[in-house]
Amino acid sequence: MAKKMVYFFGGGKGEGNAGMKNLLGGKGANLAEMAKLGVPVPPGFTITTDVCVHFYQHKRKYPAGLKEEVAKALAKVEKVMGKKFGDPADPLLVSVRSGARKSMPGMMETVLNVGLTSRTIPGMIAQSGGNERFVYDAYRRLIMMYSDVVMEKAAGVEPKEDMGIRRQLERMMDEVKKQKGYQADTDLTAADLRQLCDAFRAKVAEVLGKEFPDDATQQLWGGIEAVFASWNGKRAISYRRIENIPDEWGTAVNVQTMVFGNMGNDSATGVAFSRNPATGDNAFYGEWLVNAQGEDVVAGIRTPNPLNEATKGEQNRHLTSLEKAMPEVYKQLDGIRRKLEKHYKDMQDIEFTIEKGRLWMLQCRIGKRNGPAAVRMAVDMVKERLIKKEEAVTRVTPAQLDELLHPIIDPSVEKDQKVLAKGLPAGPGGATGQVVFTAAAAVNWTKDGKKVILVREETNPEDVEGMRAAQGILTQRGGMTSHAALVARGWGKCCIVGCGAVHVDLGRKEMRIGETGLREGDWLTLNGTKGNVYAGQLPMMAAGEENVTLMDFLKICDAVRRLGVRTNAETVTDAAKARAFGAEGIGLFRTEHMFYGKGSDEPLFVLRKMIMSKSEAERKKAVDELFPYVKRDIKGTMEVMDGLPVVVRLLDPPLHEFVPEGQEKRQALANSLSIGMDELSKRADALHESNPMMGHRGVRLGVTYPEVTAMQVRAIFESAAELLKEGKKPYPEIMIPVVCDANEIGQQQEIITQVYKETLAKFGIKRIRHMVGTMIEIPRAALLSNQIAEVAEFFSFGTNDLTQMTFGFSRDDIGGFLPDYVSKKILPGDPFQSIDQIGVGELIKISIERGRKTRKTLEVGICGEQGGEPASVAFCHKVGMNYVSCSPFRVPIARLAAAQAAVSK
Ligand code: PEP
Ligand code: MG
Repeated sequence: MAKKMVYFFGGGKGEGNAGMKNLLGGKGANLAEMAKLGVPVPPGFTITTDVCVHFYQHKRKYPAGLKEEVAKALAKVEKVMGKKFGDPADPLLVSVRSGARKSMPGMMETVLNVGLTSRTIPGMIAQSGGNERFVYDAYRRLIMMYSDVVMEKAAGVEPKEDMGIRRQLERMMDEVKKQKGYQADTDLTAADLRQLCDAFRAKVAEVLGKEFPDDATQQLWGGIEAVFASWNGKRAISYRRIENIPDEWGTAVNVQTMVFGNMGNDSATGVAFSRNPATGDNAFYGEWLVNAQGEDVVAGIRTPNPLNEATKGEQNRHLTSLEKAMPEVYKQLDGIRRKLEKHYKDMQDIEFTIEKGRLWMLQCRIGKRNGPAAVRMAVDMVKERLIKKEEAVTRVTPAQLDELLHPIIDPSVEKDQKVLAKGLPAGPGGATGQVVFTAAAAVNWTKDGKKVILVREETNPEDVEGMRAAQGILTQRGGMTSHAALVARGWGKCCIVGCGAVHVDLGRKEMRIGETGLREGDWLTLNGTKGNVYAGQLPMMAAGEENVTLMDFLKICDAVRRLGVRTNAETVTDAAKARAFGAEGIGLFRTEHMFYGKGSDEPLFVLRKMIMSKSEAERKKAVDELFPYVKRDIKGTMEVMDGLPVVVRLLDPPLHEFVPEGQEKRQALANSLSIGMDELSKRADALHESNPMMGHRGVRLGVTYPEVTAMQVRAIFESAAELLKEGKKPYPEIMIPVVCDANEIGQQQEIITQVYKETLAKFGIKRIRHMVGTMIEIPRAALLSNQIAEVAEFFSFGTNDLTQMTFGFSRDDIGGFLPDYVSKKILPGDPFQSIDQIGVGELIKISIERGRKTRKTLEVGICGEQGGEPASVAFCHKVGMNYVSCSPFRVPIARLAAAQAAVSK
């Protein structure tokens, strides 16, 4: 490796910069950038991710020259600090931390206080003004962390449950506290800690069979190796799978001067966000602890204090804010927050330490946020002119937007509920499920189709998989910035932390909240927006259109996107909902839906009569009877979509789907047709098909039964004519399904033209604005699009059928084999969910190109299920469609995806 492997930062300089995340990791790149900005950063250096990649490619060996580069960088750090690493008189201590390209909160290892040895301890005591207690406390933390991370985990030692070295040392410390009658760690005296350190070292040697290293350089390299090793630790791997982070990226290692937040009551440590990550509020938001190290805040062991007065909540109102306790430092910190936000133009997540009244910034990175906060920040930052609209639309992922459309507890029920307990509202929304107490149970129960709430004593990053599986997470300890809170928020999970009233008895699989006892499997409901916990299962409700910020954000998306967004809907209710979500018309009205579900009894009966008719006269009579029902639904939907196009598709499914099954229904039908049951059965049998998906359906029905087409077209035109008379602006687009040849459309077009003329005459009007077009669902139609565009004014890709027919996969029978295709990586994913861009997509491209060659103004859209899936929306944008059409609830997501497609390079 000839390239530079180590990058120095500090003293107002940085060899790297924020653009070098791939090489230096997010943390390293930002430390370099912050140092350059003049923000007070403890000096240090970053070992690149390339070194990590080399390490794994060469059996855990470092590239030649690394030791020398590290030594050089360390010398620079020593120069800035005026101290030397391993120096008995005035020692420099360092931290060793991970830092991948993408933040993986709490998933890798850290070692602090590296450089404390029997030789440097006296110098450190002198440096701290004789604070022996502080130094031995730092030393016992080093032993605990180092033995756990370097000597056990990185060395591949797998201890028995609860017998890890760290747990054993913790128990020894608890024992001392118990013996001496102490409440808190801070009660331990210097002498206690010194003795404890001796006992710790002996225990480490006994359990792990190796001495705790008493050499600064050996500790440093142990720490570096452990961080690299933790890239392939269990929880890091799990997290990467869930977040789709490639294994090849590797992590960088940051070695940085230690500054101490636990040097007394003029020292502190904290974590803050430049805006509230749970709500998006433009208010400096964070947590701090006096006389503590950073790990105390993020590990969630002590419930931390609020940063300032303005963001105090009900749960922490009694605690002192940094603003009150150290006003000068708070002011400086607030200034840095503004500087960083202005520089990075995004919300920053920062870690800081105050050592003897002096502020140091340990880290800054783009802050994770949940969906509601992401939307709020994007909207606010456009208003503040911090970012442009084009940038704003990239700040919210489709999944985050989805969170805003996600369930909350039905407010009308919630208002009458007794709040069982209150905690910190770490991840908003509602969740209800059965209580489980371990991550493994959460995963297993979810696999069994159950909904669970994961209840834990404290937030623990080992639990990622269980947290992912659970509907919601509840913890007894920890703050808003604890690992679990961060991770949950990143996923938009409902999460409550620091709920002190919860007492878990893991062994008995029970918990107590105040007076109430709950066992594993009992129901619990969480309101993660308020931090409220309720007993039992409360009803959930979809959140939605009333959200003004969401509507503002979607307007920003609309200003950026070029692709239209319509909806697939066939009821007045759905159409109205979709219009409220911003649908610009209907891309697919499936006529046959009026024969399914609520209120379908009467029209279905008449349809059955039509299907079972033998003679044309019989059928015509039934068709006439059906007419008012068809017209009612079409007119209602066109009315809701007034002024916008409504694509009405002619009857598509094979008729035998509607043949009644039960004896009673068959009898009623036979009576109404004045035929016997035998005759009815004969007619029903005649309709049977062995492969109905490729049978008598779609346009083929219209070819055989022209009167059925005529009736539907009449319903469309008469609805439009009546709406015109009422002063409205109807715009129907008549769509012919399952077409494979232009002549099919030509034949249907004759019927349409005839009915059009009749309708104009009947209503005495000159023109009804309309179009006649087709679905492209059959590969032959895609290939012959030049001919089809001669007779069709628009195309709509029916990618459900087009995928079915291109793959030869029956869309109704994929359950048996498609999961294997995906898990065995034969296919990258389910092509019925996301368009198969290289196969089906190729046909779409050919079809559009050939269609538009014939008819320049050809309108092109998609109405298959993929139309609301973000990657497919991006594809539709790229191939030049005019619109996508999807179910009402996906309309907002399609608007965002279309905007993102418009700005992507
Ligand atoms: C399609 O085939 O993509 C389509 C929208 O039609 P349907 O799902 O009704 O067959
Ligand atoms: Mg279809």
